[in-house]
Amino acid sequence: MALIVQKFGGSSVADTASIRRVAGRIIATRNQGHQVVVVVSAMGDTTDELLDMAAELTTNPNSRELDILLTAGERISMSLLAMALTEMGAPASSYTGQQAGIHTDATYGHASITAMVPERIARAIKAGHIAVVAGFQGVNDNLDVTTLGRGGSDTTAVALAHALQADVCEIYTDVDGMFSADPRVVPSSHQLPAVRYEEALELAAHGAKILHTRAVEFARRYNVPLHVRSSFSDKEGTWISNQVAPPELAGIVPAAALNQEAKVEQPIISGIAHDKTQEKITVIGLPDEPGAAARMFEVVANAGAKIGMIVQNVGVSEPGRANISFTLPEADARRALEALTHAKDDLGYHELSDNSEIGILSLVGAGMRSHPWVSAKLFGALARTGVNISMISTSEIRISVVTGLDDLDVALRAVHTAFGLDAVGPEAIVYAGSGR
Ligand code: ASP
Ligand code: MG
Repeated sequence: MALIVQKFGGSSVADTASIRRVAGRIIATRNQGHQVVVVVSAMGDTTDELLDMAAELTTNPNSRELDILLTAGERISMSLLAMALTEMGAPASSYTGQQAGIHTDATYGHASITAMVPERIARAIKAGHIAVVAGFQGVNDNLDVTTLGRGGSDTTAVALAHALQADVCEIYTDVDGMFSADPRVVPSSHQLPAVRYEEALELAAHGAKILHTRAVEFARRYNVPLHVRSSFSDKEGTWISNQVAPPELAGIVPAAALNQEAKVEQPIISGIAHDKTQEKITVIGLPDEPGAAARMFEVVANAGAKIGMIVQNVGVSEPGRANISFTLPEADARRALEALTHAKDDLGYHELSDNSEIGILSLVGAGMRSHPWVSAKLFGALARTGVNISMISTSEIRISVVTGLDDLDVALRAVHTAFGLDAVGPEAIVYAGSGR
């Protein structure tokens, strides 16, 4: 018997028929002799709809009110799922983040978990009940409701799995697992049987929308095995852990799958992530002197913008002057541009330019550490397709390049082929289309 935390994303609980289907799955796991704790996202596009309603009433919603509003989405799905489970013969109760003992700081919209005290959940498990927990929410010291940021239900699930010492945290979505590239852009991509935390983290942080980055960070820190899989099929999904082969867990992984995985050597490149939601700002003609970049990035940071890549050119267009380009999420760009414009005289630059028509391709693989030809191969593949690169950044196990938005899909397919990642098996199936 294992304790399994199962998290269902919005596309898996989009309507009452889906909720009944999910309930059937949960009961099937229980009937195999496992204990199950469930975490749910809001139904379908509920969170976006709630945000739209707020936007119809105000351009600047109060952050406390916004968090109370958004947590309503998960309360709807949790209670309906508990009703469906009970109706189908499996006694279940639902719990808000607060009732589940999820304590957070007071950063509305992006709260961090400060403590997990899931006493009521532990009691429910003991009583043989299925606990259904609302994802993405907690409570702060003032007993005000907070949210963990968009996509935060994954983090709720991983945090609960850790606090309850669960054997595995299953993340159910509408694709079969993590892929070597987004199957919607690269149809020849293949499903990854197993990925190490560090690689999953780089893939998630650079645009693989299947998992919340913070959830992977949490899982890595506390060694919580993750199994990302589809709620629309019974297929094995992608195991994320510190091992190359999926961890052996009390009968959860079929032994045959384990033996087969163990024989396969880990590829040099695990996958390619992409991001079409970034923007590039260039500050032209900054004085080339110590402190200029520090002052400029302080202005950007104060505007709350999350900076990705940075490139500086000194003296290229004018002696004594530097151009600095950086990428940031589209959603942060307006604030950053306003702040930079406001600080123009202080910073002493000539002008700003802004490009939202960019895409970022990130090649990820732990094998990069020992294979120096990876960059040459990447740039060779891009050169052959005539794709121009405007920025490059690397980590130990990742190379990211900025291309034009229109070039990105072609670039992804070319790089995927160049690294021998094209599938030999059947094409990937996207069941519902949202990747949530
Ligand atoms: N419902 C929230 C969102 O759409 C949280 C989640 O789905 O994980 O972002
Ligand atoms: Mg999600």
